Amino acid sequence: MAEHGTNNENGASVDAGGWDLLIKDGLVVTDRGVFPADVAVRDERIVRVETGLSVAQAAEVVDAGGMHVFPGVIDPHVHLGIPMGWTESTDDFYSGTTAAVCGGVTTVIDFTIQAPGQDLLDSIRQRMTKARSEGVNCDFSLHANITSPSADTLSQIPDAVGMGVTGFKTFLAYPDSMVSLNTLAEIAALTKEAGGLVMVHAEMQEYIDTATQALESQGRLDSRYFFDSRPEAAEAEAIHALGRISRSLDVPFYIVHLSSASGLDAALQENRQGARLYVETCPHYLFLNVRPAMPPEPYLLVASPPLRSNRDSMYLTQALGRGAITTLGTDHCPFTRAQKMQFAHDFRKIPGGLPGVETLLPLAYHLTLNRQVELPELARMLAANAAALFGLRNKGRVQEGYDADIVLLNPAGASTILSRYMHSRTDYSPFEGFRLNGAVEKVFLRGRLVAQRHGAGMEMTAANLGRFVPGQAPIARMEVPT
Ligand SMILES: [Zn+2]
Repeated sequence: MAEHGTNNENGASVDAGGWDLLIKDGLVVTDRGVFPADVAVRDERIVRVETGLSVAQAAEVVDAGGMHVFPGVIDPHVHLGIPMGWTESTDDFYSGTTAAVCGGVTTVIDFTIQAPGQDLLDSIRQRMTKARSEGVNCDFSLHANITSPSADTLSQIPDAVGMGVTGFKTFLAYPDSMVSLNTLAEIAALTKEAGGLVMVHAEMQEYIDTATQALESQGRLDSRYFFDSRPEAAEAEAIHALGRISRSLDVPFYIVHLSSASGLDAALQENRQGARLYVETCPHYLFLNVRPAMPPEPYLLVASPPLRSNRDSMYLTQALGRGAITTLGTDHCPFTRAQKMQFAHDFRKIPGGLPGVETLLPLAYHLTLNRQVELPELARMLAANAAALFGLRNKGRVQEGYDADIVLLNPAGASTILSRYMHSRTDYSPFEGFRLNGAVEKVFLRGRLVAQRHGAGMEMTAANLGRFVPGQAPIARMEVPT
């Protein structure tokens, strides 16, 4: 700053130029508003956001006339290469982060995998090694799965926070991974002490067991019955249990991939009674449903929690519009059509998960152009809130001092979701054929152009620029939705 800075009347330093990049004449979107401004970037950071900045001071100028200048999206929930039953998800860090930047996502937060009995810190180092060896095209951070909650594991939570991991994910479902409510409370207390945040897969396994046994006894194992095997009550009940723990220990929880109207009502009701529950939902719960009409290839849509009804989708979309959702994540975890289809006759063996990281922003932006969600609200849910909750201090805002992670969105453009133009290692999108208002045009990661529109799709323009972004504790104490 000093070498380019001068002092204004108030004695504050003003950056006078020598910029690497100037994004000119766009409409800047922040979590507080939308306003015309130029954005100047130097040394990977945004150094000025105001009108009338001189193009003579910039090495490179990008015309953003008519464009929304949106913060690079943070997807707080992706799985890049994980074993799933008899198979493995198809995106590694390289292909998954290619898909990310081509959709305007400049930071992803992936999850470690803790093998039975594995040292927690070791599981974190293992994931970092995997990321670095495969190559990473956007910035990334990590949450730690706690699936083997021994005394040793719990004692390592502060050290994990020291390594830059602030989110600790637990499961109330899946017999091999789940923790009891008592253990969950213990993890939450230790994590709060360490300055982190506990994330919860909120479905009670006993409800799933009961429903699955009933379907088994009726011989109903075809993929279309999967959606009945995990009732909404499993989610709502888990969320009420989290609310009780939150209130009694004064700890926050982050509910991943909330799927249902009754689940959201449970969270909001608990929050009104003093709990602190943050809520993430995913585009597939907003845009896809299996009631009243079952789609033709239900096995392609198997993910947990399951898709619900049209009514749930509308309810969650309305909640998004009034700020009752904290973050939008994707739970990106793709498989190919063949992997999904192999056990179409037995839903118990279909690998659960959907591709989503590349379509997150296009789908969400479409909602703003249809006036279902305002742009500042969307900027909070797609960037600022995740940055605050997981301690990504320089991320999530188009504002001076922040990393120059920026997406240029064209409100007059349009795009159609077609998997053949996309970058995940899979051969379908659950949103195949969706025609969307608006289009992602250019994506900058710390001031470098990493993806841009190319014909009907996007192309990555620079590879392997991604870095690990440590979460910094303590995480922000944010308002919860009510
Ligand atoms: Zn997940």
